[in-house]
Amino acid sequence: MASGPLQPLIDELGRLPGIGPKSAQRLAFYLLRVPAEDANRLADAIIAMKRSITLCGRCFNVAQGGDCEVCQDSRRDPSLLCVVEDPRDIMSVEKTQQFRGRYHVLHGALNPIEGVGPDQLKVRELLARLDLDGAGPDGAGPNGATPDGEGQESIKEVILCTNPNLEGEATAMYLARLIRPLGIKVTRIASGLPVGGDLEYADELTLGRALEGRRPLEV
Ligand SMILES: [Zn+2]
Repeated sequence: MASGPLQPLIDELGRLPGIGPKSAQRLAFYLLRVPAEDANRLADAIIAMKRSITLCGRCFNVAQGGDCEVCQDSRRDPSLLCVVEDPRDIMSVEKTQQFRGRYHVLHGALNPIEGVGPDQLKVRELLARLDLDGAGPDGAGPNGATPDGEGQESIKEVILCTNPNLEGEATAMYLARLIRPLGIKVTRIASGLPVGGDLEYADELTLGRALEGRRPLEV
């Protein structure tokens, strides 16, 4: 155990993903050595980030109050929706420059063993965007939203861009079964991505090709 205020810092650093106890200790002692202004800059950046970052009310991407940058961009095609697990996946897809639609962030994937079901993900919010509870394609939505009103996006294709691992595939199949009957085209990014992998680690070219080669999902 380190003395005084050093141990709480080691404990907190050790809770970060990918940081083991040894790394936590090394980082803490590094911060002990650096000039105070350097350490303050790090502390301030964390505080400022936590104060100003919110989730987009529409797609649950990170935002700074209100809608995120993607949802605010009028040049994006609102009829194309890319469903991802994590806001980081939006960065990966954006880097490919192959997608000009909007996103929906689930904030996870189905994982029954860890107690993650549809209710723990932004599934209900996704279905609301597809206007499942609305009065149908010709009518007004439940809140009186008209087809070109604020609540309506007229989504024509949903691209399931969850990770190519067990949980991601199960989530894609689950969503496809829900969305298909609504007459909305459902596609899944093509294989070519390493199976069992994470979108985060896919290079732009591979992910770009996987998007281009997306196929209707058979359920
Ligand atoms: Zn958004």
